[in-house]
Amino acid sequence: MKTKVLKISDVESDCSAILEAARLIRDGEVVAFPTETVYGLGANALDASAVHKIFEAKGRPSDNPLIVHISKRRDVDRLVRELPPAASTLMERFWPGPLTMIFRKSHLIPDAVTAGLDTVAIRMPRHPVALKFIECSGVPIAAPSANRSGHTSPTMAQHVLYDLDGRIPLILDGGRCEVGLESTVLDMTAEVPTILRPGGITYEMLKEILGEVRVDAGTLKPIEGRPVKSPGMKYTHYAPHAQVLVVRGELDKMVARINAMAEEYAKGGMKVGILATQETKDYYKEGKVLVLGSRTQLAVMASNLFWALRQFDDMGVDIVLAEWIETRNEGLAIMNRMLRAAAFRVIDA
Ligand code: AMP
Ligand code: MG
Repeated sequence: MKTKVLKISDVESDCSAILEAARLIRDGEVVAFPTETVYGLGANALDASAVHKIFEAKGRPSDNPLIVHISKRRDVDRLVRELPPAASTLMERFWPGPLTMIFRKSHLIPDAVTAGLDTVAIRMPRHPVALKFIECSGVPIAAPSANRSGHTSPTMAQHVLYDLDGRIPLILDGGRCEVGLESTVLDMTAEVPTILRPGGITYEMLKEILGEVRVDAGTLKPIEGRPVKSPGMKYTHYAPHAQVLVVRGELDKMVARINAMAEEYAKGGMKVGILATQETKDYYKEGKVLVLGSRTQLAVMASNLFWALRQFDDMGVDIVLAEWIETRNEGLAIMNRMLRAAAFRVIDA
């Protein structure tokens, strides 16, 4: 299969590309499209055989459910059995945007989408291309991130092409994703709304509105030997080809330890990458240094994480030494992804 890439600079003037994508969706095909979080690989959420094609193209385990994307608030009503009152408040405040909510599903949602669960994850993205594409398709779009399963999520069309070239018919190229990390997944069926995956809508933002929010115990820890609420979190994830090690401690100690380790690895003939911050970048002596951003701008750092991991792959780095980031606000999502990329290998400085 030849994979076509269509660039969209303006939703109105490039509408023929979006109509082509919508036609593919109605024909039961898959299409990669930009959202503000990461690129998604979409199919008609009401058509089980179209949804199977997503799992096939990604090599995704079939027990990992998908998020259903909608373009209008009212689309949610027929997809769920009940809407807790707090959900309406959250939709008003955060939709369209990077918040996915989990509800009890209606009979319209096939088991292929939810991996057999009785619940469904729903989100309204805010990227104009995503909204127009969903609207023109005329159906809800089931979509996980548009990467090969286990690899880093794509934040640019070229990342999607690298992973899925020849496996899908079309990629809509809407430029670089603004948030750069997947949506926050919030379980609205729990007694107290629970964050199963942290993202751009932070614990602090949700708490301000809901009063009480929980964070799933597996957010910064490996999930072992206990039931998993969000199946996606149990897989090794977001991994670049290089091995990733996270170093934790006070800033100066962290830098000293990373410098010492970098020197050791370089001596052993390894190509070293350092995932640094604006505050520390000038103190590194060895290796390829990439800067996520300033520690005072966590959202910017979040938006650069997947991009940086893919950059290290392009540079042919063997090992990435990454600084621990404090876990408040967007820092929680950064460390959730970074720890999974590192398979939870953390060294105290
Ligand atoms: P992706 O879109 O690739 O980022 O993956 C979707 C994420 O949403 C995965 O981590 C899933 O486990 C999670 N998810 C989707 N549907 C559900 C659901 N019904 N219950 C819990 N987690 C879900
Ligand atoms: Mg994913």
